[in-house]
Amino acid sequence: MEQNWDALREECLTCTRCALCKGRTQVVFGMGNPNAEVLFVGEGPGQSEDEQGLPFVGRSGKLLDTYLDTIGLSRQTNIYIANIVKCRPPGNRDPLPEEREACLPWLRAQFKQMRPKIVVCLGRIAAQVMIKDTFKITQEHGQWVQKSGTWFMATLHPAALLRNPNQKPLAFGDYVALREKIKEVCEHTI
Ligand code: URA
Repeated sequence: MEQNWDALREECLTCTRCALCKGRTQVVFGMGNPNAEVLFVGEGPGQSEDEQGLPFVGRSGKLLDTYLDTIGLSRQTNIYIANIVKCRPPGNRDPLPEEREACLPWLRAQFKQMRPKIVVCLGRIAAQVMIKDTFKITQEHGQWVQKSGTWFMATLHPAALLRNPNQKPLAFGDYVALREKIKEVCEHTI
């Protein structure tokens, strides 16, 4: 796998490592600042993302941008957003274990180049892949875990918040905690 970011992206855009490549319109490599100290990780592209080739551009992305804005973050400047799988699973089903495994080398390569100080997992699937496979999102969101010098936290997926707006205050608390952690461990984010 290529080392340079642009070369990595180019290589990823033609990936055929799993069957999801057959149904995609575009690979969604990620967006934001590859030099950011904070990496957000979602589950996988939905329909809008597949059409536009960018992560979180649908309704849940708008909600995510609102939360980011309240704590001084923006995908244009001081974070990067990627997904566990880079191609849309049909009908927005959860990515299969073999699809996650096939796709993970791309995220690992992104992580290795960025060496983020903080990783924020958006939802259960990202948390189970990035933090631990038994992660319970309703019980463990907002909790910090340090692994090999990087801090990991998961928050509720914005799409879940659109379905259950009564959980929005819980998510807001996670973003406030994120801001505190950024102040503690980041050098050039806020
Ligand atoms: N949901 C995700 O998990 N990722 C996206 O990019 C869009 C919606």
